Amino acid sequence: MVDAVGVPADEDRTAAERFMGAAVPSVIRTGAPQGAGALPQHGLSEAEALAELREIAARNRVLTPMIGLGYSDTLTPSVIQRNVLENPSWYTAYTPYQPEISQGRLEALLNFQTMVGDLAGLPVANSSMLDEATAVVEGMLVARRAVRGGGNVFVVDADALPQTKAVLAVRAEALGIELVELDLAGGAPLPEGVFGALVQYPGASGRVWDPSGTIDAVHVAGGQTVVAADLMSLTLLASPGSMGADVVVGSTQRFGVPLGFGGPHAGYMAVRQGLERQLPGRLVGVSVDAEGRPAYRLALQTREQHIRREKATSNICTAQVLLAVMASMYAVYHGPDGLRAIASEVMTKTGLLRDWIAETGVEIVNDTFFDTLTVRVPGRAGEVVARAREGGVQLHRFDADTVGVSVGEATTMTDLHRVAVAFGGPAERSFGYVGGQGAAKVPESLRRADEYLTHPVFHSHRSETAMMRYLKRLADKDYALDRGMIPLGSCTMKLNAATAMAAITWPEFGRIHPFAPREDVPGYLEMIDQLEAWLADVTGYDAVSLQPNAGSQGELAGLLAIRGYHRSRGDVHRDVCLIPSSAHGTNAASAVLAGMRVVVVATDEGGNVDLDDLRAKIAAHADSLAALMITYPSTHGVYEHDVLDITAAVHEAGGQVYIDGANLNALVGHSRFGDLGGDVSHLNLHKTFAIPHGGGGPGVGPVAAKAHLAPFLPSHDAAQGDGDTAGIGPVSAAPYGSAGILPITWSYIRMMGREGLTEATSAAVLAANYVAARLKDHYPVLYTGESGLVAHECILDLRPLKERTGVSVDDVAKRLIDYGFHAPTMSFPVAGTLMVEPTESEDLAELERFVDAMIAIHTEAERVGAGEWPADDNPLANAPHTAAAAVASDWPHPYERELAVYPAGTAEAKYWPPVRRVDQAYGDRNLVCACPPVDAFA
Ligand SMILES: *Cc1c(COP(=O)(O)O)cnc(C)c1O
Repeated sequence: MVDAVGVPADEDRTAAERFMGAAVPSVIRTGAPQGAGALPQHGLSEAEALAELREIAARNRVLTPMIGLGYSDTLTPSVIQRNVLENPSWYTAYTPYQPEISQGRLEALLNFQTMVGDLAGLPVANSSMLDEATAVVEGMLVARRAVRGGGNVFVVDADALPQTKAVLAVRAEALGIELVELDLAGGAPLPEGVFGALVQYPGASGRVWDPSGTIDAVHVAGGQTVVAADLMSLTLLASPGSMGADVVVGSTQRFGVPLGFGGPHAGYMAVRQGLERQLPGRLVGVSVDAEGRPAYRLALQTREQHIRREKATSNICTAQVLLAVMASMYAVYHGPDGLRAIASEVMTKTGLLRDWIAETGVEIVNDTFFDTLTVRVPGRAGEVVARAREGGVQLHRFDADTVGVSVGEATTMTDLHRVAVAFGGPAERSFGYVGGQGAAKVPESLRRADEYLTHPVFHSHRSETAMMRYLKRLADKDYALDRGMIPLGSCTMKLNAATAMAAITWPEFGRIHPFAPREDVPGYLEMIDQLEAWLADVTGYDAVSLQPNAGSQGELAGLLAIRGYHRSRGDVHRDVCLIPSSAHGTNAASAVLAGMRVVVVATDEGGNVDLDDLRAKIAAHADSLAALMITYPSTHGVYEHDVLDITAAVHEAGGQVYIDGANLNALVGHSRFGDLGGDVSHLNLHKTFAIPHGGGGPGVGPVAAKAHLAPFLPSHDAAQGDGDTAGIGPVSAAPYGSAGILPITWSYIRMMGREGLTEATSAAVLAANYVAARLKDHYPVLYTGESGLVAHECILDLRPLKERTGVSVDDVAKRLIDYGFHAPTMSFPVAGTLMVEPTESEDLAELERFVDAMIAIHTEAERVGAGEWPADDNPLANAPHTAAAAVASDWPHPYERELAVYPAGTAEAKYWPPVRRVDQAYGDRNLVCACPPVDAFA
């Protein structure tokens, strides 16, 4: 075996090359010549890579960011930074599809939902959105679904955040929704045909106003209101829910999540009663386990795009779980009174700054405020902003006459003084401690009167000792990569090396505002440029945008690029997107959101794209063909030989080829999408390029394209880099998306080099083939390539076993928990199967442990089939087994306790699930999506 970062002996390297020669069809072996291209040939050592990254980081200037616009200077409690953000038990976990081994993060996410719902004043919240701007887009789509058959106009508050307006414009255009911008606070009348409206509360200008009249007017017009709210301000201000808002969205960044030059942060969404089944994203709920005790799990999973495909209403898959956990823990740690105190101090400081600025005689535009002031300084905005920057503070220049100032939790009195000086205030001033009297300045009618965060969890962990132990207790309930392998097909759960993780908490990367001036972020821009060049080199494309916050958003961006390209050539009628039936659900969902019509292409017996059907579909839609979306290697884990014929057929018909890059870990260094006929792809940096999965996010989904599509890639008005403002507009709120975690991928690639990346691919493919070969006599391998080999993952067919023994995929997956494993991907892309992807990060001993467990489980299933144990009372049907069940005085089962909880090979790596098997159906019938009262657990 080849270790991911080690150097293999020569004889191993040639063996690996020979093996890859057999596994990868020669027609697709197009890897860039070794030694050429932007990617360095050799990797650096950990120490060397960190030293180089330190130099890059040092070029960023860490000033006090008072730019605002939805991003606030916050203080991450150290106990949360160390025990969540820097703790592999939290950051290496997978999306909690297996609830029995995810109770810790599910509880944290339920806390998040309760926090959001309470503050927003609405009953149901989901467990994170990608960012505020896309949450607003999803809110608009919820409104449209809720008023089916209504008008086509969505009203946008003139005082909404500029990046929100820009993302809305891109997304509405693709769907044919008409946006109308109005001064809602000024009482502008609504136009005809309104299905919804967006209100920003408080406004981007800082103004705090009462939107209840607008909300009522929208309802009278038959529409729904989406309120984008600053969650921190809602500790003092009346909640949007109490004013009748239907949907409340926003960001939880200022709940202790570093700015990171734009992300990752958890966006949020809450909805009123009646809209819960319209909620996009993931929803954590409460159900019961096999013993009838409460247990958490993801509710309404069948709404997910994996299942709904072209009927999906959202394409969100990876969300922002790790950041949602951080934000929820910030609320748990501070409690409602702590949050109120923070908000009150922010407001007090803003009031003080307002007085100091007003002393200089300039006009302050907003007479109500929470944390932001808009100041008119005719002709002097540039000068004021420059003077503040000399004093170490970044302000926002709206235009030549207007400056924006925003106060955050981390803003000091010295910072305020420097800002006042920049506006012309006196150089000397004495100031002492400022208390938190701000709340008293909230206009009477908007004062928050109701209680929030009353659940005991927001009152019980208020010391560092208690908090540390709460986080440990939750982490101990979960299975993450720090316990053993997570062999998830399609999700590439590889090592997230500690060295690669190191830089994300450096202030030079963490405390940088996404709209910081270009002069202050040369380090970021250099890192981004390098990374874009490396990813272009690896994929054979010409241009890369790092803006999308997840693979699904990269898909959307790539399809919008195709759409823009066709339209620029007058081909406005090209709107059909061909998608193989085996594709990941997000593909179809993204196509619909890009305004395309989905036409499904069949797959043949071997699991490959059915070429005849493809040709027939191309012929049937020749004039309207926009694109083909394929995954390579396919979601069946096979290198298709025909890929060049497939892409050529699409090009001949005038279509563009989108290659889904989720399986790039099977290709890096050996072949390139651009050389296979791809025009555009997304990559998943949280799969192939070592960003941790975080329990379901963060992610980065760069979109990479050939030169002819480059002008149609995402752009952003506030982008600091050259050439990043010329595309179709933004798909994310921040110019470089989740820039704060790019140092992880940068470090990974820098330490691997072309050589290391190429070897990692070989090791990943070898590991998958090893598992397939060892298990195929027990579980048939569903699909292989012409060589009889698989790519980086293999699909094990459990349907024959089920037929023979009655034991289901679910039973096997849950029994794996007793053996100390996370189940492979279940029933995707084929029902009744398990898809295993071991990755290059697992050593031979761990692969053997997994193979042995799978074989032992197979033997158990055969014993059930042979009638040795009843079908409803055996180690598989009862799995997983808890410690409590094993030591209970009553053990009514026909098999030994030892077999139940210590089956062969588990002694060293025993993992104890905290709950028995969770009843999914019960939870969906009895939807509880906020922290249940404590007596529910009695
Ligand atoms: C993971 C995945 C996606 C979606 O990516 P996200 O980052 O989760 O949005 C799309 N296609 C395939 C094949 C995938 O495996």
